[in-house]
Amino acid sequence: MHKPRTLIKPIALSLSGALVIGLPLGKPFECLTLALAGLLIFQLKQLLALKRWLDHPEQDPPEAKGVWGDVFDGLYHRQRKILSQERQLRAVIARMQDSTSALKDGVIMLDANGNLEWWNPSTERLLGLKHPQDVGQPITNLIRHPHFKAYFEQGQYQETLELASPVQDALHLQYHITEYGEGLRLILVRDVTHVHSLEQMRKDFVANVSHELRTPLTVISGYLETLIEHNDALPARFSRALSQMQQQSLRMQLLIDDLLLLARLEATEPLTHAQSLQVAPLLARLCQDAQLLGEQEIHLEADPALAIKGHAGELESAFANLIFNAVKYTPQDGRIEVRWYQDAHGAHLCVRDSGIGIEAKHLPRLTERFYRVDSSRHSATGGTGLGLAIVKHVLLRHNAQLRIESCVGVGSAFYCDFPSTQITGQAQ
Ligand code: ADP
Repeated sequence: MHKPRTLIKPIALSLSGALVIGLPLGKPFECLTLALAGLLIFQLKQLLALKRWLDHPEQDPPEAKGVWGDVFDGLYHRQRKILSQERQLRAVIARMQDSTSALKDGVIMLDANGNLEWWNPSTERLLGLKHPQDVGQPITNLIRHPHFKAYFEQGQYQETLELASPVQDALHLQYHITEYGEGLRLILVRDVTHVHSLEQMRKDFVANVSHELRTPLTVISGYLETLIEHNDALPARFSRALSQMQQQSLRMQLLIDDLLLLARLEATEPLTHAQSLQVAPLLARLCQDAQLLGEQEIHLEADPALAIKGHAGELESAFANLIFNAVKYTPQDGRIEVRWYQDAHGAHLCVRDSGIGIEAKHLPRLTERFYRVDSSRHSATGGTGLGLAIVKHVLLRHNAQLRIESCVGVGSAFYCDFPSTQITGQAQ
């Protein structure tokens, strides 16, 4: 390393030199003034050289001795270090851009106001963004689908969102937003067309099979009914077999009806112009029907003024499933409470029973098709295993959610939570 040289030494040498010359000549002050002026000119020259170099830092530093040499050397080394760091950083950024450019998925970076900052080339194919015109545009101006707008603005991004591409209807895209830094957002856009069409094939298959099974089953049930009507004319050993066959064909019919209902719920778009529905009379009717199924005490408390936007048939299926389940899974001496009420969060239906309850580990999977808490319980109650899946789908179509609380041996409470936006009639 360079040894630091002092500023004092050359100045002291120049001034004492001026005195050595000036004193014998009898003009020490003049010589001193000359020496000082020389020193000043030297410093100014170095300063000018520094300024010239700072204006053109790509050139080599000026040659200098003493303190100025140290200053130039120090600045030169620092500048070289910064340049090399900058080069490394540029290389990292270029590598990152190359890798995201090679990605089939779209990557979009937004600023804190939700405006487009950067995106990779795949995004242009998937969403039709154009560089540079769209830089700085709000993302919601370019992806205008109301579901995307709602997803983007709600700020909770644990779930992904699937929508058709704004530029090609046949393309199905999955959006996943991640927040980072201070209010910045990164959007990943995946092409899920293949998965979507497989899922569509599965749905169509289930719907078609269910539909095709309906006619033969109706014929079988019809003949079974005729045979049972003429039971007396048949040998006694057939009687039990026939009644079991009738029971099972009825179960199959219920299963097919539920599968078809689910397929219809999945296939049709959510109702945007649903009618206002008086829920209290509907619940009164369902509770009356439920009372015929068991001995349990059914208590209904429904706000008569509280009405919601909804599809009467769909909501009736959902509420019936919850109320009939409460009867199915509650002992005869148990109690069932049905409440329809409003609070600050919206309108709620609560179906609470004092039945067998459900272990906490089953709760998250309860709305899956054919999920059984225990299979023996299932065959005893004769359910299809599709009831709660139907409830979940119907509620989703009404912007509502199913919430379940349960304790084994104490009972369960099933809540349907409707947002305030769904309410049409106001409770007082
Ligand atoms: P199922 O036709 O079998 O009743 P569901 O989809 O309606 O099918 O319900 C799924 C499972 O959730 C049922 O098999 C049952 O184990 C459980 N379950 C539903 N409702 C209740 C309830 N009120 N109390 C206890 N368990 C329930």
